Amino acid sequence: MRVIESILIDGHWSRGSHEQQGAVFNPATGEHIADLGFASHADLDRALVAAAKGFEVWRKTSAYDRSKILRRAADLVRERSDAIAELITLEQGKPLAEARMEAFGAGDHIDWYAEEGRRAYGRVIPPRARGARQMVLREPIGPVAAFSPWNFPVSQLVRKIAGALAAGCSIIAKGPEETPSSCIELCRAFQDAGVPPGVLNLVFGVPAEISDYLIRSEVIRKISFTGSVPVGRALGALAGQHLKRCTLELGGHAPFIVCDDVDVEAVAALGASLKFRNAGQICASPTRFFVQRGIYQQFVSAFSKAGAALKVGAGDAADTQMGPLANPRRVAAMQAYVDDALAVGATLAVGGQNTAQPGFFFPPTVLADVPDSARVMHEEPFGPIASIVAFDDLEEVIGKANALPFGLAAFAFTRSIQRAILLADELQSGMVSINHFGIAAPETPFGGIKDSGYGSEGGSEGLDAYLTTKFVSQVG
Ligand code: NAD
Repeated sequence: MRVIESILIDGHWSRGSHEQQGAVFNPATGEHIADLGFASHADLDRALVAAAKGFEVWRKTSAYDRSKILRRAADLVRERSDAIAELITLEQGKPLAEARMEAFGAGDHIDWYAEEGRRAYGRVIPPRARGARQMVLREPIGPVAAFSPWNFPVSQLVRKIAGALAAGCSIIAKGPEETPSSCIELCRAFQDAGVPPGVLNLVFGVPAEISDYLIRSEVIRKISFTGSVPVGRALGALAGQHLKRCTLELGGHAPFIVCDDVDVEAVAALGASLKFRNAGQICASPTRFFVQRGIYQQFVSAFSKAGAALKVGAGDAADTQMGPLANPRRVAAMQAYVDDALAVGATLAVGGQNTAQPGFFFPPTVLADVPDSARVMHEEPFGPIASIVAFDDLEEVIGKANALPFGLAAFAFTRSIQRAILLADELQSGMVSINHFGIAAPETPFGGIKDSGYGSEGGSEGLDAYLTTKFVSQVG
């Protein structure tokens, strides 16, 4: 079996020296396609030394020169995006068209941070005494430990790398073990663009072993994690114990509120396309569809029709609109959510059964009249299940939308300005998108509140996450 050379430390690629290796699967066939080298503690020690050395080089490189290197990396990623997209689809499963958007879009994220890094402005504060100067300087926080997941192997990782590097930090990134190859090519593009050795290090391994070791290290000054709430809670606690700053981008359970004054067919079609993108494995995916009673039946039927019409298959087949799930854990989880919802009284409109083909497939599934007691209404499904329920008035639906501990994304559809303002003001969510899908651009903050985590990636907030504030007071 081919072993992927996956570990980048101090500018050199290796297979890592851990006794264990990972197994990489093609989720469309279930086939074991490669093994993955894992990093041992000795490798992590080398990565920490490299990141400390890399930080000293990189923080002294001017923001202007860092920006030039990052822009080159953006160009290289775009040039290589077709090849990177094939790797995303092979290991993660999404349709090639979606993978191409992800890979090409990574260039945009890098460009944004390349520009924003040149604007890490401080300020001058008027002094009390004449002849004094009071300055606020923004400085890179130090070496970063970043942990990124498998649902968007490139776009999750690139935000962390580009943000850290633009600010002047070095980074040790742990990529997702299920989907390593596109992450490796992303890092190669940064390396080929001229990022000095030690500034960007990539490792894979036993996740808890790596996070535990890196977060405790004195070298690491900042943690960034994207993944599930329980893991985020554990890493946040450890980071707190060691007084490390932390950005946590965790799960969501996004409400999708449809008022009775909209074009029902158009909103149902948009809702279905958002729901089933990446087979629903998106933290900001709409999951709880609340539809006003007067248009409820029409919405359920239009949404179900759109879901049923989707062509499910291998991501590299030209006509595929939804690929497999990324791993067998998600397939088992989907079946359990559907069985539970039906047992407590939901109606199955479409899908609902693990399909018989090889690979990790689950069909687009629509559940109607789902009771609040169903697990899928309060646990993040992270898969292709839409739960639809009726509501009568806005106050009631806002209460339902806010009832969960999650607060990442929320969507609402109405033609009334008053309703739109009320929803924007009252929804407890880090991101609210009204009448379209308008989140996740490089220049806009992406992040949650409540159990969905804290801190933002993207926007000027994304750079702030990697900067500290130094006050300098000077006379004479
Ligand atoms: P999981 O909780 O086991 O892992 C989630 C991610 O965290 C994976 O990338 C994993 O490698 C990493 N991880 C796990 N333990 C870790 C540790 N101790 N230290 C560092 N990293 C660690 O769940 P899973 O089965 O891989 O994914 C399913 C759940 O994860 C979903 O329900 C969803 O909530 C969440 N998830 C969220 C996102 C997101 O974009 N926020 C992405 C992927 C997964």
